[in-house]
Amino acid sequence: MRPPLGPPIVAHVLLLERDGGLMLVDTALGTGDLADPQRLGPEFRFAVRPVLDAAEPAIAQIRALGLDPAAVTDIALTHLDLDHAGGLSDFPAARVHVHARELAAARKPRLPERMRYVSDQWAHAPRWVTYDEAGEEWFGFGAVRAVGDDVLLIPLPGHTRGHNGVAVRRDDGHWLLHAGDAFFAAGQLASPPTCPWSLAAFQRLVAIDNRARLDNLARLQELARSRGDEVTVFCAHDQRQYEALRSSS
Ligand SMILES: [Zn+2]
Repeated sequence: MRPPLGPPIVAHVLLLERDGGLMLVDTALGTGDLADPQRLGPEFRFAVRPVLDAAEPAIAQIRALGLDPAAVTDIALTHLDLDHAGGLSDFPAARVHVHARELAAARKPRLPERMRYVSDQWAHAPRWVTYDEAGEEWFGFGAVRAVGDDVLLIPLPGHTRGHNGVAVRRDDGHWLLHAGDAFFAAGQLASPPTCPWSLAAFQRLVAIDNRARLDNLARLQELARSRGDEVTVFCAHDQRQYEALRSSS
């Protein structure tokens, strides 16, 4: 995506190969969005200028890896914003794990939320699996087990009502925390934190609860600072973080 202001951004999706099948963390835009870009709305297309390349949707990249998209049994979403949920309909049989408050917001958006959710992206009635309260503890964060004990949803509200991170434990025991849109630039976890002004303004503008967003950002900064050897924290839209992780995996 190439916003007219600020750096280019990506939509970072994880593909997990697990015993029972494949799993995605987020879906970014999908083939339905490429077929009908109008559904994304003029505001999004103007503000973000998505690159609509047929090779980019998760389903195309899974096929390019020689894997079967039908083997995707589960999808864990950080939230249901249109740039994270567009690929859902490419995997209609998958269970979709999402916070109950997020699904409620997407189904009944308040006025300031109307542009961010596109119900056409989930008109196929996904097999939603919702959760409400955090049960387990993970590095001081409330967590809930999503699928097995290697994928946890970590509530991080603020950007949206039911936004969460998704923690994935690799085979070597190291954790990856896909923090979705809890922050937008890798520099926000540095000390002192840095962020291009356009991204800082955008995050504040679109946050449904800016106080909660800032509280959670502070917790993520502390996590990255104190437990960086055990957890790699990254966000959905930072291109350099995406490229660094892609080349290390
Ligand atoms: Zn986003």
